[in-house]
Amino acid sequence: MNVIHANSPCQRVRPLLDSYVSNELLVETTNDVLRHIGDCPECRGALHEIEATRHAVRRAVSTIQPPPELRGRILRSLAGNQPVVMPKRSAAPRWLAVAAAVAAVVLSIGIIRNLTLHRSASPSLLHIGWLDHKECVMAGHIPTTPPARETAVTKLAAYSELLPEIERQMPGYVMRQAHRCTIFGRQYTHVVMEKNGVMVSVSLVRKNPGEAMTPGLHSATIEGTAVYGFETGDHLAFVMANQDKDTVHGLAAKLSPSIRQITETL
Ligand SMILES: [Zn+2]
Ligand SMILES: [Zn+2]
Repeated sequence: MNVIHANSPCQRVRPLLDSYVSNELLVETTNDVLRHIGDCPECRGALHEIEATRHAVRRAVSTIQPPPELRGRILRSLAGNQPVVMPKRSAAPRWLAVAAAVAAVVLSIGIIRNLTLHRSASPSLLHIGWLDHKECVMAGHIPTTPPARETAVTKLAAYSELLPEIERQMPGYVMRQAHRCTIFGRQYTHVVMEKNGVMVSVSLVRKNPGEAMTPGLHSATIEGTAVYGFETGDHLAFVMANQDKDTVHGLAAKLSPSIRQITETL
């Protein structure tokens, strides 16, 4: 049983989890939540439950195909701010009309969300990657002299194949760091490449239960960092830099097939 003590950090964090998953918190609050979640398995469990529920609802809603004319009506009513008018079918039983009205509301919400949100991973998952870039690269922990190659390969251990592959895919960049780092209780495999003073993080972390991204590249800009993330096997992978989104997107798209190939066997 979960006991939340009065005035405990858990009691402060729990009510924030919903807003956190919806990416509605200020960045500082998000960091507080993530810091706590890194140390607290109970709150981590609560967060995973929320994320899993949302995922299941999204999946259920996405399998319902609205009839095209309903979609059109909803879009028109959104544009003109008119109420959605359901077709009159006098012969239909009353429960059917009620069911149709409920379905229309659910579909409207789905369509509005699709229109306004454009498909993305749960923002908290992209935050997980971003934290590594922030706490390791942006916090200034990159040594002035890059580690020796053998040191880097040793530190990457099972992930050592990543380094030559990243270097091959990123001509013109030099390796500035390649290590495993622990941020808020999670271990990242982290390769940092640099060109003209811009640091690009390639970061991998093993998924926690309940963490899942839909297929494809997901993106967000968090505090000026372009973050691209995708799921591969048991891992979440991220490519991040404080640079224009197009450049980072290009790198992520180029790197993702080989990262997938390497991590699938891990
Ligand atoms: Zn807690
Ligand atoms: Zn690092």
